[in-house]
Amino acid sequence: MSEVYVIGHKSPDTDTVCSAIVYAGLKGYTAARPGELNEETAFVLDYFKVPAPALMENAAGKKLVLVDHNEPAQVVDGGDQAEIVEVVDHHKMNFVCNTPIYIHVEPVGSTATVIAKHYMDQVKGNPTHAGLLLAAVLSDTVIFKSPTTTDEDKAIAAELAKIAGITDIQTFGIDIKKAKASIKGKPIADVIHVDFKDFDFGGKKVGIGQTELVDINEVYDRAGEVTAYLNELKSGKGYEMVVFIGTDIIKEGSELYFAGDAAMMEKAFGKKPEGASMWLPGVMSRKKQVAPPLEKAFTS
Ligand code: MG
Ligand code: MG
Ligand code: MG
Repeated sequence: MSEVYVIGHKSPDTDTVCSAIVYAGLKGYTAARPGELNEETAFVLDYFKVPAPALMENAAGKKLVLVDHNEPAQVVDGGDQAEIVEVVDHHKMNFVCNTPIYIHVEPVGSTATVIAKHYMDQVKGNPTHAGLLLAAVLSDTVIFKSPTTTDEDKAIAAELAKIAGITDIQTFGIDIKKAKASIKGKPIADVIHVDFKDFDFGGKKVGIGQTELVDINEVYDRAGEVTAYLNELKSGKGYEMVVFIGTDIIKEGSELYFAGDAAMMEKAFGKKPEGASMWLPGVMSRKKQVAPPLEKAFTS
C-alpha cells in the first residue's frame, strides 16, 4: 500500500495539526502540514516534546486523509490531484467525491473531540496523544467559552486531562492561548492574516480575520493601523467589506473593526458602530456569531 498522509487545512491551527498527528499515529499513517505552524501550535508541540509534521507543499498524486476541513479552498495545494481516502471533521460539508470513502463528521467543538471519542481506548495508553488532543479541544473551543462548545467536548477534555496528567485544565488552556495571544511588535498585516477567511455573501466578497487575545488593549493601542490596513485591503483586493475580529478571551467579547458600509454592520449586529468598530459582548466565534449575521445582512 502506498503511503497515506493525514493533513489539516491551510493556515494550520492547533486542532488541525494535533488531530493529524494523533490520527496518523492511531492508523499507522504519516502526518503532514500544508503550512507554517502558528505560535500557539508550536508551543503545544514543544510542551509535549512532539516534532512538527513534515511540510507538504503539494499533494498531487498522494493519498490523503483530511482532518479538520473539507472545503476545497482550504485543502493543501495539489489536493485536486490527490486521492482523498477519508475525512474526519467538525465543519459544514462542502465536499464531493466520485468514489465511496470514509467520512466522519460530528457537530462538536473540535476534530480532536471526534477522534478522542472514537479511539479513547487506544488514547488511554498514550498520555502524549491525550495531551495533544486536550490542547486541540481547548484551542478550538477557546477554553469552552466559544458557543461551538458542546457537553461532549467538556466531558472528553476531562478524560483526556486525566490521561495526560494535567490537573488544571483552565490554566493549561490559558497558557496555550497566551502563546499566540500577543500582537506586540508584529506587523498588523500578519496579525490580520494569520487566521483570515474569504467568504462569498450573495456575490459580494467579504474577508474576515480574527485574533484571540488575553488583553484587548493590545488591539485598541493599534486601532488606527488596523483600520488603515483594512481599508487598504478592501480597495486593493476587491472586497465589499473586510472585518477584523479582536477577541478578548478573558472579557469574553470582541471588538469588530471593519472597512465597508457601516449601515451593513448595523444591520448585521443590531448596533451602531462607533467610527470604524464596535464592541460586541459575548461574541467569540466567527463561524457561529460573525459570518452568519453578516451573510444574512448582505443577502436579505
Ligand atoms: Mg481548524
Ligand atoms: Mg477544528
Ligand atoms: Mg479556529
